[in-house]
Amino acid sequence: MILGCLALNASFEPLTMVPMRRALRLVIDGKAEIVEAEQDKLVRSERLTMPRPAVIRLTKFIHVPRRFRRQVTNTFLFARDHYRCQYCGRPSIELKPREALTRDHVIPISRGGTNDWTNVVTACSPCNTRKGNRLPHEIGMHPITHPVEPHFVHLSWAVRRLTTTQARYIRTFYGDTILHQLEALEHRHGHRPPEVSEHPGAATA
Ligand SMILES: [Zn+2]
Repeated sequence: MILGCLALNASFEPLTMVPMRRALRLVIDGKAEIVEAEQDKLVRSERLTMPRPAVIRLTKFIHVPRRFRRQVTNTFLFARDHYRCQYCGRPSIELKPREALTRDHVIPISRGGTNDWTNVVTACSPCNTRKGNRLPHEIGMHPITHPVEPHFVHLSWAVRRLTTTQARYIRTFYGDTILHQLEALEHRHGHRPPEVSEHPGAATA
C-alpha cells in the first residue's frame, strides 16, 4: 500500500499530499522538515535511513496562488451542487441514459463570464443546451442555489487516504467541521462515479 505524505506550508497550513519519494527529496534537500513520522517504518534513500514521514512542513513559506488551490473541476463542482441540476433540480440518478451532468456558466464565457466557482453551476445536458449562451434573466433560468466557492476543496481528494495522524493536522488547522465536510464530500463522490463523468458532447456555454 502506497501512502502519501501530508505536506504543510511553513505556516502549518495543510497544502497537499505528496508521494513519499517527493517528500523524502524535500527533507533531504533541507526544503522540508519532518513533523510526524512513523517510527516503526523505515525508508531508505541513497545514503540514509529514516522513519517514514507522515507529515512534513516546508521550511520556507510558499505562496500558493488561489487559482491553483481553488480550481473548479467537475468532480468537485457536481459534489458542491449535490449532483443535482441547478435549473430543473433533477439529481444525476434521474437523468435519462443519454443525458449527463455538465458545467454551466451562469454568465456565459462568451458574454464575459468567468470560470470561477461563483459563476459555474451543475446543469443537466438538456438544461445547459436550452440555456445556451443566454443570461439567466434573458431565458428565465436561475440557479436553484446561489453558487459560492466551497471551502478547501483542494484537499478533499486526499481525505480518504489520510492516516489518523495526518487527519489530526487538517483538524487542527481547519477545525472538525471542515474535516467532516471533506469526508462527506469524498464519501459522496466515491459512490457516484458513473453519473458524474464529463459528457463529451455537452455544451459548456
Ligand atoms: Zn436540468
